[in-house]
Amino acid sequence: MRIDRIEVFQVKLPLIYPWKTAYGEDADIHSVLVRMVSGEHEGWGETTPFFAPTYSPETASTVFILNQEVFCPLLVGKSFDTAGELLDALAVFKGNPFAKSGPETAWWDLQARMVGQPLGRLLGATRTRVDAGSDFGVQDSFDMLLEKIQGAVDAGFKRTKLKVRRGWDLDMLKVVRAAFPTHTFHIDCNSGYTLDDLALFKAVDKLGLAMIEQPLFHRDLHDHAELQRRIETPICLDESITSIRDMELAVELGSCRYLNIKMGRVGGLSIAVALHDFARDEGIPCWVGGMLESGIGGGLAIELAGLSSFTYPADLFPSSFFYREDLTEPDLRLSTGCTFELSKVPGTPYQPIPERVAARSYRHAVFEAA
Ligand SMILES: [Mg+2]
Repeated sequence: MRIDRIEVFQVKLPLIYPWKTAYGEDADIHSVLVRMVSGEHEGWGETTPFFAPTYSPETASTVFILNQEVFCPLLVGKSFDTAGELLDALAVFKGNPFAKSGPETAWWDLQARMVGQPLGRLLGATRTRVDAGSDFGVQDSFDMLLEKIQGAVDAGFKRTKLKVRRGWDLDMLKVVRAAFPTHTFHIDCNSGYTLDDLALFKAVDKLGLAMIEQPLFHRDLHDHAELQRRIETPICLDESITSIRDMELAVELGSCRYLNIKMGRVGGLSIAVALHDFARDEGIPCWVGGMLESGIGGGLAIELAGLSSFTYPADLFPSSFFYREDLTEPDLRLSTGCTFELSKVPGTPYQPIPERVAARSYRHAVFEAA
């Protein structure tokens, strides 16, 4: 397809309740949307690295500026028959996977709409619906957390992920495990600990968690391998894996037994699919992570989660969990059994509402082919 026009929007989406993790607190989600046009068709991508470089070295602003100054001027007016060709055009630029995934995910949505196919079918999805998991950040009190977990259990969520940070870890987990002895839990440490915390992880090891997500610094694959040798609970890597090369090294070192795959963190849907295939071939189960994307990115992630080796419920959530009003119609809603249905229409069913996108945007750039 020839890319006739690209628009990039930097948006701020106010959260109903602050998102508190090991790296801090976000009152809003800062995200970058990419609208890509070819002839009469348009597709939308989204990439969400947050406001500050806390989750990743990238931020919503670095993603916007890179797309504005470097990537989109190079892509507009060119033709790309595959997303791989588009990524090849950006391959000379080092790193910055979140920035690259903006136009890459838009390309996939546009391609699906142009060929009249649901996005999942193009990506190789084999399911018609995917399991959503529940996920709770740090709360104001144990009672508040227990009440939310009870709600998730009653609603039928098959697993619950708990964010931990210093002061909200072992004591909280013991209280939760005592209240819910058989429910599936895992924790996400968001790189907040070191090997000096081995005693803590040994204690956590006795609580029967499904996995411990990203316990250590994101660059420390060796330390993750060392920790995995000392505990039984599988380690899941998230922040550490931004490419296939990272995962090859992690497997060689024995740094993880689970993989969280986010299309933004790894540089797009094509690489997310390749990582899924690589993990499957290595016998490492994986699941789809999220960055509290709007209905645009959430809709793309649902299609990705339809691939066969995404066996653990995904971090995919209804819009109403986090936002008073999403950017799309319909917004993200659960169907039977805490699942999301894959698209039956070209692309995804979640259409951005231009007025809402405009109202939430604080930066906007437009590129037209000559
Ligand atoms: Mg994580």
